[in-house]
Amino acid sequence: MEKNLLIEEEIQQKAYALGIEKLGIIKPEAMLDYADRLRERMERLPNGEAIYGRFIRFADVQKNIPWTKSIIVAVFHYGHYNITKEMGDRYGKSYLVDSRFNEDSPERQMLIAFEDYLHSLGIKTASNEHPGITAMRWAAYKAGLGIIRRNNFFYTEKGSWVGITAWATDKEMELIGKHSLEECSVNCNKCIKACPTKSLSSPYTMNMITCVSRLSTSNDMDSYNDETNRQMGGWVYGCNVCQEVCPRNKNKWENKDIFPGLIDIQQFLSPAQIMNLSYEEIEKYLTPKFFYINKESLWRWKLNAMNVMINEYIEEHKKEYMASIQLALEDKYEIVREKARWALNKFGLL
Ligand code: SF4
Ligand code: SF4
Repeated sequence: MEKNLLIEEEIQQKAYALGIEKLGIIKPEAMLDYADRLRERMERLPNGEAIYGRFIRFADVQKNIPWTKSIIVAVFHYGHYNITKEMGDRYGKSYLVDSRFNEDSPERQMLIAFEDYLHSLGIKTASNEHPGITAMRWAAYKAGLGIIRRNNFFYTEKGSWVGITAWATDKEMELIGKHSLEECSVNCNKCIKACPTKSLSSPYTMNMITCVSRLSTSNDMDSYNDETNRQMGGWVYGCNVCQEVCPRNKNKWENKDIFPGLIDIQQFLSPAQIMNLSYEEIEKYLTPKFFYINKESLWRWKLNAMNVMINEYIEEHKKEYMASIQLALEDKYEIVREKARWALNKFGLL
């Protein structure tokens, strides 16, 4: 027992030395009650089973990886990167500094170094960057590293701007962390009130189907109805609203470090710039970072960009926006041409 504790502490110390913010280790059984939480959530939503049913598999890690004896959960802070207001108002911040599949990212290198360290101890591991081996937020909560707030995001003392990774291991271990966080005030509903699509309808109840983060990254051939498009406002890819309005995130974003490669693609991120990109350029510059929109659905980028232009149509941008939308009349995808025609009609220009 004592020997195991020593190994667990050593692992934690190594993680902290590498820059991981928090680390805990849980038994695989600790995740089983995730299925109950998920079922409760499904019952609260119409169509809940269809939306969330596929995540039930995350509860039983041993079923998926039979040799699992423990799960190591690491939380790392990404809220230290410099993100301009223009980018943060249009893109989900977690996507702008996403370390998954990005070999140049310090966080990615840190996690690889940590995994190498585990292997050097003779510990076998399994992980994957997306979608992961288990339900990350619940695993981090069960490991005592923080709490899940009413907006469904996981928080540490550094706010919700944190990433979570987990490894299944073949070694029996347990190390439950500590935190100093208080639950949300029962009177606070800022995140719920601010959600542009009302996807977050009550505490801990979010309909993924209508969340802007899902709508704007969907690969389904759907152009959505007028009301949904309007609610999506100025978001091109993802949404930060329920995190930005949260008082527990106040002053938590540090805006100091440069994320590798972000400056290089900054010139392609505005709606007008997206409309001017060819699909080859979108695939080259945007797809590697924003991988939820796959290579077969690149038309989603043009729909999203046009949607922002339509929602933010003001005299000041009129010339630039109309030129971009005119271009889309010749797009190779009918769904894009259709939206361009609709927009020009709406503004009396066709
Ligand atoms: S990410 Fe945006 S759309 Fe989704 S629940 Fe939060 S506020 Fe609502
Ligand atoms: S906005 Fe209020 S209710 Fe929502 S997560 Fe933050 S503290 Fe909790």
